[in-house]
Amino acid sequence: MIADETPLTDIATIPVSLHKPLERLELRTVNDLLTHYPRRHEDRTRFDRFPAGETETPVCIRGVITKATLRRFGGYRKMFDATLEEPEAGALSSPLILRWYNMHYMQKLIAVGQTIIVYGRARLRGKNLCIEHPEFEIADEGEVAGENLSMDRIAPIYPATEGITQRALRRVVFDVLSALETLETPLPEGLAEISRLEALKAIHFPESFEQLETARRHLVLTEFFGLQLIVARRRARTLAAPGAPHCGPGKLLDRFLAQLPFPPTSAQLRAITEIRLDLASGHPMNRLLQGDVGSGKTLVALSAMLLAVESGCQAALMAPTQLLAEQHYLNFCRLLEPLGISVALRTGARKEESAGMQGGDARSPQPAAERRPPQILIGTHALLFDSAQNDLPTLGLAVIDEQHKFGVLQRARLISRIPAPDVLVMTATPIPRTLTLTVYGDLDVSILDELPPGRGRIRTELREDGKLRDPDKFREYLRSGKQAYIVCSLIEESETQDGKTKKAATAEFRKWSQFLAPLKCELLHGRIAPDEKEAIMRRFRDGETNVLIATTVIEVGIDVPNATVMIIENAEKFGLAQLHQLRGRIGRGSGTSYCILLAGTGDDAALEKLRVLVRTSNGFEIAEADLESRGPGDILGTAQSGLPPLKIGNILRDSDLMRLARETATRIVSADPELSSPENQRFRIFSVESSDKLLSHVS
Ligand code: ADP
Ligand code: MG
Repeated sequence: MIADETPLTDIATIPVSLHKPLERLELRTVNDLLTHYPRRHEDRTRFDRFPAGETETPVCIRGVITKATLRRFGGYRKMFDATLEEPEAGALSSPLILRWYNMHYMQKLIAVGQTIIVYGRARLRGKNLCIEHPEFEIADEGEVAGENLSMDRIAPIYPATEGITQRALRRVVFDVLSALETLETPLPEGLAEISRLEALKAIHFPESFEQLETARRHLVLTEFFGLQLIVARRRARTLAAPGAPHCGPGKLLDRFLAQLPFPPTSAQLRAITEIRLDLASGHPMNRLLQGDVGSGKTLVALSAMLLAVESGCQAALMAPTQLLAEQHYLNFCRLLEPLGISVALRTGARKEESAGMQGGDARSPQPAAERRPPQILIGTHALLFDSAQNDLPTLGLAVIDEQHKFGVLQRARLISRIPAPDVLVMTATPIPRTLTLTVYGDLDVSILDELPPGRGRIRTELREDGKLRDPDKFREYLRSGKQAYIVCSLIEESETQDGKTKKAATAEFRKWSQFLAPLKCELLHGRIAPDEKEAIMRRFRDGETNVLIATTVIEVGIDVPNATVMIIENAEKFGLAQLHQLRGRIGRGSGTSYCILLAGTGDDAALEKLRVLVRTSNGFEIAEADLESRGPGDILGTAQSGLPPLKIGNILRDSDLMRLARETATRIVSADPELSSPENQRFRIFSVESSDKLLSHVS
């Protein structure tokens, strides 16, 4: 009997000649094959009429090849044209050209007299209506045996089928489906309208589009439910891990807040209260602090760390880059010195050397044994892991800045310490709700939805022609004492495919320095040595440099209120969320700041993407738009999430199903965390395996 995990090579109906092609598609088991879902379906019981003009969307038509010619053009490039006519061509129907460039083997596949089914978009090429490189299938090639799976029905069209035809793949899938007697349906009763086997049959060979939709719903729900079980169990594990309260009475925090030159925003106070409750509880905290750039996350983190330190434990802050760690360090020293809290820095460049206060005595490094462990340790992600056990004997709170560079696995590793520390993850890239329900679904969320008052406005403008409108005005502006960032995408010059040279930071640096002389420009990019980088940043911060020409190394955290202009060259090369981050570097003072996006392309979709930034400065809106433009397909599949990739569900379009799956999974796991009851054991196939794999990575 065959089952989900049966290797395809053990199935007699699959010809040996197909073993290799299936392997190449990474289809090894019955389950792999059956979840190799069709990319789309073609209704081959009825076809579209031949189009009379260009079409916006693809058409699916059937016709007869009446002519085929191979022609040369432009030297030795070749073009293969096949003329397609509608079978019962009326007087109004005109033929259509199918055209392939440089694919001479097409002439071996396509011959006059054949009936073929074509899918594609019609375009005018000269006087002819053409479909270039269409998807096609020859209709009158005989079926090997049995029911015709390709004609007069709704036929599945599979993704990439190199080495195996659509037709052969349909046959393999059909035979396997027919040989299956039953399959476990790993969905709770309330959610499953049909069985898994019925759903699989209908997703591949639907009898109607309604049936197809029901099947899709079932399979998406199954996928989401599996995902949410993993998330719910992660969460349950964290809650069950042995933790301890890490919260002092709050006197230290009160003193700290009292000496601040400004009151915290009410959003900050709300977040601090939420964190305080977590710290005071015996369960390990696992919380995400979301807030747009400039919303003041650092203050919240600091407050949490003070509460922890006051209770007698240590607190650590991990930044994604050295520059950022150093900036936090200086900042913390300044704020905490008056309170007598010891702060230490650890980065790749200088391990532990700079423990002490800013401006304090330059103590020579002491042997480790004599040093008292610092109350607060700041460092980069990696280093804190390397030797964390030595320097953090009593770690009670770990704050992770800029979550998206920090994976679930690392987080899990941190929490796996015994006793588990409380963990606060901060992200400046707002995370769309759809993702806080999935990838980040095991975290509690605090949101800073309010910017501190007195913030200047940022005006964002898009230059579609890629040029500054008035360069002289820019120079004048800088002469008046303001500073600017100019962001470029690359370090070295490089040839792009279309022969144009991308703007590169080094070349831009030369160009701008000349143009702006005698104003001072400096160049900052990732390949500059850390010490030098810091020196460059310091000169910019101190106003010695007027313009910083930089790659995205300035993306996170740098805080220079006097820098009020940002020019981003080839802005389309960056992601929306990244642009929003970059833009967050300005608007830190009280006046108006200007962000100028220079487009390096006339491409409509790219410009449309950039217009989102002109329209809104709301990080959540931008994050949603970003997700939409990138497509969510891969987001879950990243190694960082530790979750399986989605094969059929779309977390944006199917968000109602996600919610349903989440509610159900949460309910089941809170009643039965180990899924040990007889009726829940069938759910272990998704969750136990994957999360065990995850944890074995971690330990
Ligand atoms: P982000 O959330 O982007 O990390 P930061 O924590 O770096 O933001 O804060 C940005 C700036 O806002 C800092 O200069 C900080 O001192 C200032 N700031 C933070 N909270 C407030 C507040 N409540 N009122 C005024 N300024 C604040
Ligand atoms: Mg920050």
